[in-house]
Amino acid sequence: MLGCFLCACDVWKKHVIYRSNSCSRNCGAKKNFRIFSSNFSSFTTGGVFVTNYIPAPFRADRFYHAVSAQVRAPVAVSACLVGAAVRYDGTDKRLGAIEQWLDGALQLLPVCPEVGAGLGVPRPPVQLVMAASDDQPRARGRDDDRLDVTEPLRRYAEQSARTLRAQHFLCGYLFKSRSPSCGVNSAPLLDSTGKNIGTANGIQADYFQRELPWLVYCEESALGDERNSLRFILQCRLVFDVLHAGAVPLTELQQHYYFLIEKFSSKKFFSLRRSSISLIHGNGFLER
Ligand code: SF4
Repeated sequence: MLGCFLCACDVWKKHVIYRSNSCSRNCGAKKNFRIFSSNFSSFTTGGVFVTNYIPAPFRADRFYHAVSAQVRAPVAVSACLVGAAVRYDGTDKRLGAIEQWLDGALQLLPVCPEVGAGLGVPRPPVQLVMAASDDQPRARGRDDDRLDVTEPLRRYAEQSARTLRAQHFLCGYLFKSRSPSCGVNSAPLLDSTGKNIGTANGIQADYFQRELPWLVYCEESALGDERNSLRFILQCRLVFDVLHAGAVPLTELQQHYYFLIEKFSSKKFFSLRRSSISLIHGNGFLER
């Protein structure tokens, strides 16, 4: 059903490799592709992958820069999701999808804002609280409301955004859901009496979304299956492609990506289509 992505073969139906681990056609690559059965379950895995439901964007000639098809786009990730024991109680929240799908395609940069802010492991658990006098949620101790770690978390968010952006072509951020630091509008929000009044962004997630709006944001809870994981990877690689392009005219990029907008015009791919459009028109996207 699928071919080797490295040689970007157009005739991928003829370029079938079933239950094999090397490209027998153009480039002879080994271990650099993934082969899927017709129902999308993989036979074997490698670094770069293609599937027959999103074939076009992963072809080298469809990226603005051909190299974008082969590099692993840098993406920040909540450190507990990659197995680091950094949660308040010294445990982790290892995510299977990372090893299974994301690791080979993205360069994952683990970040734990609470450790980065100097709160240590183990540490008292915190939660988001919005008192009547507050204009923003604050991160206060769950067991001792005199504890307020909002300012160190805000300082770390600013510092980590600056560092990650300066050192990498940062393309996305995979967050742990429901965390007062990392949740993307999923962290429980309480009032000063302890009553649940909704959900909010964690401190880190809120800062990044405000300051770096062109990144691809996702919570681990949205990566429950291969399809969603591949969609996230594709979005991050497109962002990498545009960042890598540098200061090219937006009209040129728009023309280049027009194929993608058409490709994903169905309702099923609406979010991907929307992200490809905002990718091109994204505010400040090319300022790096
Ligand atoms: S959710 Fe965020 S702050 Fe909490 S342990 Fe994971 S990386 Fe650290």
